[in-house]
Amino acid sequence: MSLELSPPLTPRSSSTSINHDTHETYECRVGREKTLQIALKKANEHVDAANIDDYMSQRACLVGDMGEVYRQHKRWKQNLPRVTPHYAVKCNPDPVVLRLLANLEAHFDCASMPEIETVLAHGVHPTKIIFAHPRKEISQARAAIKSGVLRMTTDSEQDLVNARDYFPEAEFLVRISTDDSGSKCQLGSKFGAGEPFDTPQKLLGMGKEWGLKFTGVSFHIGSNSSDPSAFIKAVANSRAIFNYAAELGYDFKVLDVGGGFTNDLFEEMADHLNRALAQYFPSPTVEIIGEPGRFYVGSAYVLAAQVTGTRDVKDPFERVVGCQYDINEGNYGLLASTISDHQEVIPQVLRKRDPTYAPTTYRVFGPTCDAWDNPVDSYNASDKISYGDWVYFEGMGAYTYPCATEFNGNPKAKAYHVSSEMEASARLGWA
Ligand SMILES: *Cc1c(COP(=O)(O)O)cnc(C)c1O
Repeated sequence: MSLELSPPLTPRSSSTSINHDTHETYECRVGREKTLQIALKKANEHVDAANIDDYMSQRACLVGDMGEVYRQHKRWKQNLPRVTPHYAVKCNPDPVVLRLLANLEAHFDCASMPEIETVLAHGVHPTKIIFAHPRKEISQARAAIKSGVLRMTTDSEQDLVNARDYFPEAEFLVRISTDDSGSKCQLGSKFGAGEPFDTPQKLLGMGKEWGLKFTGVSFHIGSNSSDPSAFIKAVANSRAIFNYAAELGYDFKVLDVGGGFTNDLFEEMADHLNRALAQYFPSPTVEIIGEPGRFYVGSAYVLAAQVTGTRDVKDPFERVVGCQYDINEGNYGLLASTISDHQEVIPQVLRKRDPTYAPTTYRVFGPTCDAWDNPVDSYNASDKISYGDWVYFEGMGAYTYPCATEFNGNPKAKAYHVSSEMEASARLGWA
């Protein structure tokens, strides 16, 4: 999406009311204005407030639109009415997101005991939480059970031995391996029962022998998938495990279809999944749950960063053949997603400068003293990038903030929240 921003937006337009609270939350009463527009308004305010006598005020900033999170939740409910969403907290544990989703009666997928504690602190009932780590520390599994979170995933003999000896109250979903070849972030080398690791059948047999509770099957098609049909095969394989479990005398009641949903392919994925569920799990007595992360928050955040260094690349005749610049956010900060999440990002100028400018190839570096801190290797910018300019990146809500470090002493970017939906504002107590 491109947006004309020249001259800069006035920070406080008449249609916008702003409430700062102690958490720097903020609201735009702008109805259904687009996420990007209101996020950029907030980013512009941040830019206007930057002051060279206060180095903290010049930090990069992240703006999250809770209205977009709300819309994604509604989109899930509309397209996957049978599948109870358990938001994958690890993707973005922003307390404002958790507060909104808790208020919307969402359920939660937690990967650790600290995440469980955070979600419980939002008043969520423990039966709405799945501890979706198939190989967890014994102490964390015991603590989860003590706090009322019994539903967990498992994929290995050792985890079952631990359960037998230390947390036999667990209610397991057996996490099966899937074909994740169509996903950008594959999980199969690490997780899932199936060749060349212990098979789900073997684990169920052990569970039976040791009197452990198994209640269903879980899978994950891989994060950031581009293969909607992966759901069909995974659901079919789950049916086979349900049948096998029945032969062993288990009464399976839960199918967990995991995450992997993307903003772009969501409707197509939902369509494939719904058809597979209708074919293989027609009975409404089977509880179907999902663990979306990226889909809920990816598109809801914009990152703005300032250009803090520039230099030209020259040929032996001193002709400029390219440019590079540094920004105050990079691979060790919020742009960590370019490494861990294979995210490809393209910076855009926050304020348009010169429409007659000829496109130039730029390379972008982050702020640290490491040349590997190079979030964008090469891109063609149609605006001149000068020292002190601000650039922004869209789609920065998934696997960014929680993956950022403070390497070189630079604190994480400042985070702001806005809302482009009255309903989201009301549920957050901002209206
Ligand atoms: C990371 C993860 C998710 C969320 O995946 P997305 O691709 O972000 O939707 C869900 N379930 C499990 C077990 C995960 O590890």
